[in-house]
Amino acid sequence: MTRLEDTLGILQRLIAYPTVSADSNLELIADLANHLDDCGARVELFQDDTGTKANLFASLGPDQSEGGLLLSGHTDVVPVADQDWTTDPFELLERDGRLYGRGTCDMKGFIAAAVAMAREYGQMDLRRPLHFAFTYDEEVGCLGARALVPELQQRGIRPAMAIIGEPTDMRLIEGHKGCCEYTVRFSGLEGHGSAPERGVNAAEYAVRYVTHLMELRADLMQRMPPTSRYQPPWTTINIGAIRGGVAHNVIAGKAEVDWEMRPVQNSDVDFVKGAVTGFIESELLPAMRAVHPEADIETEVIGEVAGLEVLDTNAARDLVMSLIGANGADVVPFGTEAGLFQEMGTSVVVCGPGSIEQAHKPDEFISIEQMESCIAMLEKLGETLVR
Ligand SMILES: [Zn+2]
Repeated sequence: MTRLEDTLGILQRLIAYPTVSADSNLELIADLANHLDDCGARVELFQDDTGTKANLFASLGPDQSEGGLLLSGHTDVVPVADQDWTTDPFELLERDGRLYGRGTCDMKGFIAAAVAMAREYGQMDLRRPLHFAFTYDEEVGCLGARALVPELQQRGIRPAMAIIGEPTDMRLIEGHKGCCEYTVRFSGLEGHGSAPERGVNAAEYAVRYVTHLMELRADLMQRMPPTSRYQPPWTTINIGAIRGGVAHNVIAGKAEVDWEMRPVQNSDVDFVKGAVTGFIESELLPAMRAVHPEADIETEVIGEVAGLEVLDTNAARDLVMSLIGANGADVVPFGTEAGLFQEMGTSVVVCGPGSIEQAHKPDEFISIEQMESCIAMLEKLGETLVR
């Protein structure tokens, strides 16, 4: 069996597990664990609190906690409900050089290629550890990686380099913006619209909050790193939704704001959060509570995906440049788990088969050509690990 056939056989199994983020990934994880165990890897599973999801971490080569390389991917996929598929999304279908199925490009194709290579890596005399991390719930805020990173840190495990195999058309990516999403709930005091001074109008406080967020945009443009290659090059803030109130003549007792920011540098996250918290504590809450002591503002963090910061020195970038013959690295607008691994002090890049254009869409596919390029990169990687 050729390596491509082997990889596609594994991919067929992985696609058949409907690991939509809302559902369990345990069967898929058990399958990967079996396979990696069979390849001689030391395999560890980390379940989440619900017991329905697990991260997998596996290692080949010398049993060292520091150094080596990590291949990482997420096992969850986005839902297929309300999408117009012409094929069964959970059955791999090959047609005209393309492989169709939910998760083929985002990102079970990379996982299949990585674990198919594990058999060969397992037979090599690796000089450095080679790790695999397969996580849950990336699509809903990188929850799996967020849980895995502290577990690794507790064990003192710190790979020197990591490749996150999200679909980049096998282009080398050294940076992406982060994505932080929040829902802010304002609780005021209802009353008759004819006596606004006797109530606390949650909608009005929500508007003041939103106005403050919009004013921060000018600061964020000022803070833009001069070398930023993003479009636009600064950290952005978007107000996604405002809800609140019941009728024209009622003081709005409740209001909610959904907003997000996409930081070009992680220090902007602290800047914005600090500014917003200061505004709430020094201006909004005192004014609200002067009328109604129980008035409140609650901020729910929906997700905080750290950006992948572009660094002058990045060993993973240098390695993958040599593996794929690239002469530079790019940045992309979408988020991945890469920033979380970077926070461990690991040098990280994103490089994987398939196009983000096909991700999350009906009739998602990956081309066989992309799978072959990924396999070629992983074969070359093996040569560097024995040196
Ligand atoms: Zn993905």
